[in-house]
Amino acid sequence: MPVLSYVHQLFNAEQCQAYIHTLRWKDRPLQCPRCHSHNVGPWGTYHAQPGLKRYRCKEQGCKRTFNDLTGTLFDRSKRSLTHWILATFLLCLSCSSRRIARELGVHIRTGYRWCWWLRNAALSYEIGRRLAGTVEADDLYHTAGKKGQAKQGGKKALGRRPRGRRKKREPGRGHYDKDRPAIIAWISRQGGVIVQATRDFTVKTVQKAAGIAVQAGSRLYTDSASSYRALTGYVHDFVNHTQKEYARGEVHENRAECLFSLLKPYLRVFRGISKTNLPGYVGFFQFLRNFHRLTAFEQAEMILYAALDPAIASRARQGDFVTCLDHFNLLQTARN
Ligand SMILES: [Zn+2]
Repeated sequence: MPVLSYVHQLFNAEQCQAYIHTLRWKDRPLQCPRCHSHNVGPWGTYHAQPGLKRYRCKEQGCKRTFNDLTGTLFDRSKRSLTHWILATFLLCLSCSSRRIARELGVHIRTGYRWCWWLRNAALSYEIGRRLAGTVEADDLYHTAGKKGQAKQGGKKALGRRPRGRRKKREPGRGHYDKDRPAIIAWISRQGGVIVQATRDFTVKTVQKAAGIAVQAGSRLYTDSASSYRALTGYVHDFVNHTQKEYARGEVHENRAECLFSLLKPYLRVFRGISKTNLPGYVGFFQFLRNFHRLTAFEQAEMILYAALDPAIASRARQGDFVTCLDHFNLLQTARN
């Protein structure tokens, strides 16, 4: 038997509460979450949660109490804040939800749910990001099927022969309907990346994806794929890989290819991803890359900070930000 099973048992619960208290109110006014009045006062503490501060709204007609966690992503969680802080940290170290559940000693479904909420909270930083300057682009096809789509949980009849992932895949470009959607990466030489999961790699899709990711008039360097060559609205130049040309002076897409060399091992950790969940995963990878100069815990702190905003928390619980990333229907033609 180990002396200590879980590392978070070493954490001081009161210190975690104090940390979250600071994070919640440092840039936000202390106000009632219901009537938004600033006329609030302290109202005792909780016996079961040491350090959690309680307040009471003094506004006539409201008079309700709230605490540091009311309306946030951690509100009414049965698990302590130490669990949440460690989960966020592990998520930024790109652990899978099952790994996080094991390290914390929670159920895998709890781990899965937390990961989705926290990923969504992280995506709030990525909504509306657009690249400018000199942008490199590249594409990739990722095998993504229907993992975890059975209604009652467990295994679902496929309705087809198993794909045989390890076998040689079909030649040619992938497609959403062939369980092999495309991923397009845009990376600016002035900083910033955008990774998009798209349905296919047709001229129409790529033009739409570029319109979302890159400001019109920017300089674009790609490979010689015909979908890039048909792009309008950009200063475009490309290298011809079929002629073994990988760089011609300034013109190359090595940064984009390097980004994929990081994305591939990141996605492998999850052992297969459902194609409907792909935007969430690549979106979170985009967040990690855009803030890669920070340490994993600094990234975790950003996520915790977002999760403590009631407006972001309620949207994160509903998965709103992932939907937002795909609201131009890059991945699916029609939502049902
Ligand atoms: Zn109030």
